[in-house]
Amino acid sequence: MTMRVTFLGTSGAVPTTQRNTSSIFVNRDGDYLLFDCGEGTQRQMMRYGTGFAIDHLFVTHLHGDHVLGIPGLLQTWDFNERERPIAVHTPAGTRGNIKQLIQANGTTPSFPVRINEVSAGDVVLDRPEYEIRAIETAHRCASVGYVLDEDDRKGKFDREKAEEKFGIPPGPKYSKLHRGEPVEHEGETIQPEAVVGPPRPGRRFVYTGDTLPKESVIEASEGADLLVHDATFAEDRKERAKATAHSTAREAADVARQAGASTLALTHISTRYAASADQLVDEARDAFDGEVVLAEDGMERRVEFPDADEY
Ligand SMILES: [Zn+2]
Ligand SMILES: [Zn+2]
Repeated sequence: MTMRVTFLGTSGAVPTTQRNTSSIFVNRDGDYLLFDCGEGTQRQMMRYGTGFAIDHLFVTHLHGDHVLGIPGLLQTWDFNERERPIAVHTPAGTRGNIKQLIQANGTTPSFPVRINEVSAGDVVLDRPEYEIRAIETAHRCASVGYVLDEDDRKGKFDREKAEEKFGIPPGPKYSKLHRGEPVEHEGETIQPEAVVGPPRPGRRFVYTGDTLPKESVIEASEGADLLVHDATFAEDRKERAKATAHSTAREAADVARQAGASTLALTHISTRYAASADQLVDEARDAFDGEVVLAEDGMERRVEFPDADEY
């Protein structure tokens, strides 16, 4: 079960030659999910080879650097004779804006576009193995963040016990037990509980979009494997961050620390740090012991289970 996160755009409000405006592509075991769609996102998708087969777009808020790529992407799908519907999830009260954006050039896509208004706490997408919920953020307009939360997964398989205590050789019986089915071995029935531990939590991915540091984000990011947080400014621009309802890298790190996240990715980087964003990384590392990465366009992160299964 792979979860791959590709950063398509990592700049703040204005793009640079190195950073495009905000967009993140998530491939969760073949489900393609797009979070925000800044101008030029479709070209970033080509450039970084993510593919276009998206059925769900999750919009954090309506600022141009997060949505201006929507008309272009839809037009390309139109040219490619897309028939599959696309769902655009967007904060409550912004349906009209999305509609205007889609019809800006006076045409309507030939495929169905479902605009779904979401509020914090809503389960936006409910899939058999995971769900995506909207979370409360604080910006200068209607906004939400998103958390992708996997269901609990199977308990850990105790290979040593299976082999040594019960004498079961590695093979299909292992996967059967791991699936929760008893097996017969040398006239004995072995119950799965004997060799399989309690269910373990699935993975958690959080994308805040633009936001001030928020308690609700800490709560939603508890134990997150990957937290992608607004880190527009360094600490010496803290007042500016507050005035524009963004976070500093240090504030993002405080959120990650309080949430007990494993990895923090700093994104939405101001043009001020176009030459070097080392200051952001250093300040975040001072406040957070987990892994800190500076998001870059084209960067890909695999979100792994902390304890992979092996037989
Ligand atoms: Zn922004
Ligand atoms: Zn914004």
